[in-house]
Amino acid sequence: MKITPFGAAREVTGSCYLLQTDKSNILVDCGIFQGGQFAQAKNFNDFGFNPHDIDAVILTHAHIDHSGRIPQLIKRGFMGPIYCTEPTKDLCRLLWYDAEEIMEEDFKRHNAPKLYSRDDVKVSVRRLKQVDDKTSFCFQDLQIRFHNAGHILGSAFVEITEEGGKTVTFSGDLGNDDTPILKQKDVLNKTDALFIESTYGDRVHEKDAERWQILKKAVTQTINRGGVLLIPAFAIERSQELLYELNNLAEKDRIADVDMFMDSPLAANVTDVFRKYPEYYSVKAYKQLTGGDKLFDFPGLKVTRTRNQSMKINDSRWPKVIIAGAGMMNGGRIQHHLIRYLGDPKCTVLIIGFQAHGTLGRRLYSGQKRVKVLDEYVNVKADIVSIGGFSAHADQKMLVNWIRKAKKRPGHVYCTHGEEHASAALATRIKEKLHISTDVPRPRQTINI
Ligand SMILES: [Zn+2]
Repeated sequence: MKITPFGAAREVTGSCYLLQTDKSNILVDCGIFQGGQFAQAKNFNDFGFNPHDIDAVILTHAHIDHSGRIPQLIKRGFMGPIYCTEPTKDLCRLLWYDAEEIMEEDFKRHNAPKLYSRDDVKVSVRRLKQVDDKTSFCFQDLQIRFHNAGHILGSAFVEITEEGGKTVTFSGDLGNDDTPILKQKDVLNKTDALFIESTYGDRVHEKDAERWQILKKAVTQTINRGGVLLIPAFAIERSQELLYELNNLAEKDRIADVDMFMDSPLAANVTDVFRKYPEYYSVKAYKQLTGGDKLFDFPGLKVTRTRNQSMKINDSRWPKVIIAGAGMMNGGRIQHHLIRYLGDPKCTVLIIGFQAHGTLGRRLYSGQKRVKVLDEYVNVKADIVSIGGFSAHADQKMLVNWIRKAKKRPGHVYCTHGEEHASAALATRIKEKLHISTDVPRPRQTINI
C-alpha cells in the first residue's frame, strides 16, 4: 500500500491523502487550502493526480479544509462515491452551498474565479453515501471502518485494511477531551501506520475550568464596561459549544439582560443539524436535553439570518454580544462588526479557534495594532483575548495519550495537519514518550506501508 499526502503536510489545511493498492486508488479527504492569498491560489492548481483515476473518497468530516475541494474534484472528472457519516452528509450540503454562494459574490464583485459551480455542488451532494460509524464495509480490496473522532458532529477517524495486507489509520481531526456537547473520541485500534493531525502538536490547552473562567470574565468585564463582545466563530461546533456555554452562563450566572446575537445564517442552519442528532451528544448534554433544557436557546439570544437583520445589530443598545463568522476573520459578517468595534477600548474580541497564517485573525492574535479590514485600516484598541481550550482539536498531551491508550501501539506514526514546528514537536514527543518511530512527511512524499 502506498500513501501520498497532497495537502496538510507541514501545514494545517488542504487535507488530502491518496491511498493506492494494486486494485484501488482512493482519497482520504479532499480539502481546500486556507490562509493567505497564496493558499487561495493553490486551490486552483492541479490536484497532483488525475481525478478520473480515483475510485472513491473517504471523508473524515465536513470541515471545508477536509471536504471543500470535492465539488472541484467532481468538476475535473471524479466519478465515484464519497463515503461519510450521516451528520457529515448534512453538514457538507450546507457548507458546500455556502462556499459556492461566497464564491459567486466574489465573482460578481471582483470577477474572482470560482472553484466550482452550483451544479457541481448539486452532483457532489448526490454522491455522498452515508456509512455507519463502527460497522466496517468493503470497497474493492479494502476494508474500511469509521470511528468517532469527537472533533465536530459526525467526525470520524478511519481505519483502512488492505485484503491480506496492512492496516493504516487516518486520524482526521481529533477532538479535545473536554468537548461540552459531543461524545469523547473512540479508542485507537491496532494499526501498522497512523497518520495523526498535529494542529496543536506543540501546545497544551488550558483546563476546562480555566476556559470557563476566561469566557465568563470576557463576558462580564465587557458587559460591565458597557462594551461589545465580538466572538468570531466557526459555523460548526464552536458556535454550538458557545451557545451551550452561554446558555449555562445565562442560567447559572444570570448575565443581566444583555442582547446576544448569533449573526450567521450558516451557524443557525448547522445548529438545526445538531438538534437532529442527539445520539451523538455526551451523556451530560443528552441528560440536559432530556431534562427539558433547549441547549442552544436562552432568553436574550437573537438569531439573525438576513442581511437586514444583521445590519440592525448596529442600532441595538450596548452592551451586547455578537457571535459571527468567519472563524479566522478573513471574510463573513464578522468583518463588518470588526470595522465598527475594533477601535473602541470598551470592546473585546474573543478568539476561540485556530488562526492560520495570513488571516486577519492571526494578525490580531499576534498583537498587531493596526490592521486592514475589508478596505479600511483600523487601529486596534479593543481587548484581544484568546481561549485555546475551546478549540475543537486535541492538544499535544491528548494526542500522545490517545496513542498511549491504543489497544496496541501503532507500528509507525506520521504527523501531518500541523505547521511544521507543531508536527515536529509532536513527532519528537511521541518518539520520546512512547518509543514509536515517527516522521513528518513532506507534501507529495510517497510512503510505502
Ligand atoms: Zn476539522
